[in-house]
Amino acid sequence: MSRFFSPTLSNLEPYTPGEQPQDRSYVKLNTNESPYPPAPAVLEAIQKETGRLQLYPDPACAALRQKAADYYGLQPDQIMAGNGSDENLFFALRAFCDENHPLAHANITYGCYAVWCGLLHIPEDIIPLEADFSLDPVKYHGRNETIVIANPNAPTGLALPPEAIGAIADANPDNVVIVDEAYVDFGAESCVPLIASHDNLLVVQTFSKSRQMAGARLGLTMGPRELIADMERVRSSLNPYNINRMTLAAGIAALESTGYFDETRHQIMETRAWTAGQLARRGFELTDSRTNFLFARTDRMEGGALYRALREKGVLVRHFSAPRISDWLRITVGTLEQMEILLKQLDDILGG
Ligand SMILES: *Cc1c(COP(=O)(O)O)cnc(C)c1O
Repeated sequence: MSRFFSPTLSNLEPYTPGEQPQDRSYVKLNTNESPYPPAPAVLEAIQKETGRLQLYPDPACAALRQKAADYYGLQPDQIMAGNGSDENLFFALRAFCDENHPLAHANITYGCYAVWCGLLHIPEDIIPLEADFSLDPVKYHGRNETIVIANPNAPTGLALPPEAIGAIADANPDNVVIVDEAYVDFGAESCVPLIASHDNLLVVQTFSKSRQMAGARLGLTMGPRELIADMERVRSSLNPYNINRMTLAAGIAALESTGYFDETRHQIMETRAWTAGQLARRGFELTDSRTNFLFARTDRMEGGALYRALREKGVLVRHFSAPRISDWLRITVGTLEQMEILLKQLDDILGG
């Protein structure tokens, strides 16, 4: 830290993203990317757009918002586009929290919520998950605070039914409830239909996990138009051109590629079920994941040691050192071939 760095940020603890190593090629199961390429129409759309790079993109993202509105059964003014879910979530915290308006979130959950609270000086109300990692929705009733819930949760993979989220929104009528649906397309149920009946509910989705566009950076916030207008106020105060031309075009093409979307996410869910069965046969304990990753542990080796042994053998998974989950590994569901390599290396390491 230089002597010029703002003292108000001296305690900032930045998020540590999953490794993106360049030293050798790995079977990369550590950042929940899709193992499949983007839909062909997405690549075409990007190619077409490159000839217009000298022009700014549409700051209103009108064409994308119209396409998303048709897709989700909303109006365009109920949708805002962000540079990935991360930007959308950050804008939501900027808009609906501050020094005097805390954010309630789970422990364990997506690590960025705590990091943004640090950056924005937002006090945190941290609500521990139950012993089995489930989230007790009743603990979120009557909080009188802005709430963010990853549903399905990360890295536990567990999902709540929309009715439970709706009840949380009902039980906090004077606060905004943000649902982070990064993994919803892998077997959970979306809260988007609840927007019509809740004036305090925001739903955030991303093109990174289920639409093969992690590198393009695109996410959507959906909600009542008054809340979206507040979000737009923040967005336009920071970066009105937050979505670049290629990504805008790619997003439209991705929403149109419904066949490819369904095919790839169902393939991942199938591979997830097969891999979970294989791991269970080897004595692993697993959560009931509704995401594109598995959360698993074994008595046969401590989590950190198993992570390092797999890395040594060219398989990257994610290990978190937080106390309650330091024995667990988060394993992205890749192709069937990648999962076969994972299992073979696990058998080598564990003497299976
Ligand atoms: C991956 C992820 C994000 C961030 O997604 P981007 O759109 O790539 O920024 C947000 N929340 C959760 C829970 C995630 O897993």
